[in-house]
Amino acid sequence: MTTQEYKPFGFHSVSLDEDKCQGCTVCIRHCPTEAIRVRGGKAKIISDRCIDCGNCIRVCPHHAKRAIIHKLEDFEGKFKWTVAIPAPSLYGQFPGIEDIDYVLTALKHIGFNDVFEVSRAAEIVSDYSRKIIAEGKVPKPVISTACPAVVRLINVRFPDLSSHLMPVRPPIEVAANIARRRAVRQTGLQEDEIGIFFISPCPAKMTACLAPIAGNYGKVDGILSMSDLYIRIATEIKKIDEPERLSHSGIIGIGWAASGGEATALLKDIYVATDGIDNCIQVLEEVENYRLSDVDFIELNACTGGCVGGVLTVENPFVAKARIHMLRKFLPVSMNKFKDDGDDLDIIYADNALTSPAKGLSSDRAEALRMVKQINELIEKFPGIDCGACGAPSCKTFAEDVVRGYGRESDCTFVLRKQIAGMFSQLELPPNILAGETGKKVGE
Ligand code: SF4
Ligand code: SF4
Repeated sequence: MTTQEYKPFGFHSVSLDEDKCQGCTVCIRHCPTEAIRVRGGKAKIISDRCIDCGNCIRVCPHHAKRAIIHKLEDFEGKFKWTVAIPAPSLYGQFPGIEDIDYVLTALKHIGFNDVFEVSRAAEIVSDYSRKIIAEGKVPKPVISTACPAVVRLINVRFPDLSSHLMPVRPPIEVAANIARRRAVRQTGLQEDEIGIFFISPCPAKMTACLAPIAGNYGKVDGILSMSDLYIRIATEIKKIDEPERLSHSGIIGIGWAASGGEATALLKDIYVATDGIDNCIQVLEEVENYRLSDVDFIELNACTGGCVGGVLTVENPFVAKARIHMLRKFLPVSMNKFKDDGDDLDIIYADNALTSPAKGLSSDRAEALRMVKQINELIEKFPGIDCGACGAPSCKTFAEDVVRGYGRESDCTFVLRKQIAGMFSQLELPPNILAGETGKKVGE
């Protein structure tokens, strides 16, 4: 059985297989948003706190966490024309290729009618982002919206920073839009007869597609996992003597695959590019405390190394990054530009207002204050050692859970012990019984 608990925001790709879960609590300590609890011997994911970063999939020793993702077979016969839009991180997965066209040709061989690289859209996004930063209308530092796990992190933990988000759609959305328009022109088919499939490095993209909180991933029909398609693509690559000339991306677009690629493409001196969810949190805390106000742009990737480190990739992120670097070597700097006409603006601009800001304690201020007081009182009662025996990652989060109605005080073993001791003392038992002495001798 697969579960995500408390589902106000609908679908999440990252889910729990209850049959495999042993309730070991390893995952609760690695979740950056404190979204996991262990209750009744099984982990539960709190839906409105989960950002689909995939950390729990990486660390679960029993493989009980997994990503729900589309399968190509699910769409058989549904579309008359299909287009694969591969993330640039796909190119770093295969050894021994010296040209991106091998990967793109292999995608056509496994059944797609056409391909359109997300790296092309990334170059258009980079070009447009330079204009946005030059205009200076978005407060500094401007924060990238390319990683949906980071956008959700901002929604859950740093909602006050949403005004810093770059008002630009992420490359996957832009690519899907352009690919669909191009396919309509090429084939004469209706839009809904064309299937656009993103080849994804991570579950966060799947969630962004099915339950967006900013932007609109609606133009993507299916999200397919790199790891699911890996063997089929690798097998086809080996059969190719001369690949079709399909690639139309430069150094800038391909560079988005790894951490720092998006930021360097802006050609600005003062930027921060970091990867790994804990580092992202640290940087966002700095922004919140006004310590990075002189920085122009911040690129944040939830995964180590950037998208090459996504949980649905196959290759070691550092090896994949080195391959990407090699593949870029003989390419021009950029092959795609933002065209300043209505068409391009229509597909690239997004106001990026977060559509489902995470819930605070209560929308009623007086009620919220009362709950904060209750939480503080409970924290005083708990031992403050964050032992995890209650199934929450810390005493503070457990106190919040109790006040929100997600747990009982007595789930804390320290409180339970005190309650039992109190009950015994009310029974006025003789002191030797209270001390655990039965009066029996050893061996009796
Ligand atoms: S995907 Fe990330 S945020 Fe969601 S439960 Fe797992 S570790 Fe927590
Ligand atoms: S860094 Fe890339 S692969 Fe990782 S969650 Fe963000 S978008 Fe997905």
